[in-house]
Amino acid sequence: MIPKSALSKLTHIVGEKNILIKTEDLLPYSHDGTQHQFMPDVVAFPKDAGEISRILQLANRERFPVVPRGAGSGMSGGALAVRGGLVVAMDRFNRILLIDEDNLIAKVEPGVITGHLQEEVEKRGLFYPPDPASLDVSTIGGNVAECAGGLRAVKYGVTRDYVLALKVVLPTGEILTTGVQTAKGVVGYDLTRLMVGSEGTLAIITEITLRLIPKPAMKKTMLVVFPNILSAARCVSMIIKQKIVPTAIEFMDSLSVECVRDQLNLDLPKGDVTLLLIELDGDQVLIDRDVRKIEALCQKMGTVEFRLAKNKGEAEDLWKARRNLSPSLPQLRPHKISQDAVVPRSCLADFVTRLSDIGRKHDLHIPSFGHAGDGNIHVNIMFNRDDKYEVAKADKALKEILKLVIDLKGTISGEHGVGISKKPYIGMEIPQIGLELMSRIKSAFDPNGILNPGKIFDVNQRNSLLQ
Ligand SMILES: Cc1cc2nc3c(=O)[nH]c(=O)nc-3n(C[C@H](O)[C@H](O)[C@H](O)COP(=O)(O)OP(=O)(O)OC[C@H]3O[C@@H](n4cnc5c(N)ncnc54)[C@H](O)[C@@H]3O)c2cc1C
Repeated sequence: MIPKSALSKLTHIVGEKNILIKTEDLLPYSHDGTQHQFMPDVVAFPKDAGEISRILQLANRERFPVVPRGAGSGMSGGALAVRGGLVVAMDRFNRILLIDEDNLIAKVEPGVITGHLQEEVEKRGLFYPPDPASLDVSTIGGNVAECAGGLRAVKYGVTRDYVLALKVVLPTGEILTTGVQTAKGVVGYDLTRLMVGSEGTLAIITEITLRLIPKPAMKKTMLVVFPNILSAARCVSMIIKQKIVPTAIEFMDSLSVECVRDQLNLDLPKGDVTLLLIELDGDQVLIDRDVRKIEALCQKMGTVEFRLAKNKGEAEDLWKARRNLSPSLPQLRPHKISQDAVVPRSCLADFVTRLSDIGRKHDLHIPSFGHAGDGNIHVNIMFNRDDKYEVAKADKALKEILKLVIDLKGTISGEHGVGISKKPYIGMEIPQIGLELMSRIKSAFDPNGILNPGKIFDVNQRNSLLQ
């Protein structure tokens, strides 16, 4: 709870118009892309780093939790106020401050919507590649805090590969700039990289300098239909082995295809089909060469249909269906446990086959889809929360899947982060000494544990709100 005395000070810092306290106003800030819900006590909309600094100093004095929040599309519960307290909504940090065509950088506030930044830089012939499927709603601040990936990560990498510098407010209220405005720089520890993916637990980001690249001349999208999951997975491995690097290789198993069959607006064969969506970008000659190579490989692997999108509109329809996939899944069962594990690309076929086995064994729908090109498969265990028997089965299946991922030398999260969803399993991947070191880093930044408590791991610290 936020003490009454602190509430009046908060109001004084941000102004009465920029604070929410009524239950009905707080409700939209009580959930995110997960199915969890936690009510904050207060939501505030600060306008600059100075106000955030004063808020964090107050939170340290009065000991209440502070949770930074972008668009609330996170898939691991990072923006949820699990200990109540204050949600700091970054909505007013919504300006693109600079697009510098000479130095190929952009400077943005964290509340800028990812897709909006992409449109603005593309108008100038530049390109910001990270493209989470949520790009129409997610913020750059949330992307940096989660180190978001996306469909184009196969070729272009993830958010961390584009963050050059940050301005942040530390949990104790100091304002810090990290990183460089130059193409390279190695002075001191890389605090920028430490912040990227820290899930709002080390600092509140208030300004971001991003690296841009020239926009590729053109792109082409292919849709490939396979009769089963195994041949599709093998085809992905073969494409990579042939040293072709598509911009994206997205995969949808047959359960996922069923969920968006109408939106795909295609005459797909009835029954079990697995789809690959493949995008290439670059110069026309190279694209045409790689399309031919990919088509030949797909034929060899037993495709039942290979289709090149005829125009931009047709390609966009395919990508739209892919982006709508996650919200379409509840038609299978009302609840889901979403995992975003990554396995080495060479293990993809093994992984998807064993996933189907786990689904059959527990009699559960486990649709899987996602970024097959980088081995990042979104696995969704569908169940009904009101059915205790199904909940128990889903829990068993989850543990088996995570163990399988670790056995295959994969990682339990490729892009969604740990938050609260994967917190119970972090020890499967990070050794105890690693967790202790992380705990000491957290304490060095946040001695009273006021910033985003309860996330990623438990901290061994006195005075912490985390436990
Ligand atoms: C349909 C759908 C598809 C998705 N597809 C992808 C995908 O392809 N790839 C992918 O990586 N993710 C994907 N996501 C997950 C999600 O969109 C990303 O994690 C995104 O980066 C979250 O951004 P946000 O603005 O919504 O952040 P929030 O959900 O609001 O917050 C996420 C985390 O960032 C922290 N945070 C937010 N702003 C700040 C700040 N200014 N300073 C410090 N910490 C901050 C929060 O405390 C929280 O821990 C998807 C989600 C949905 C719903």
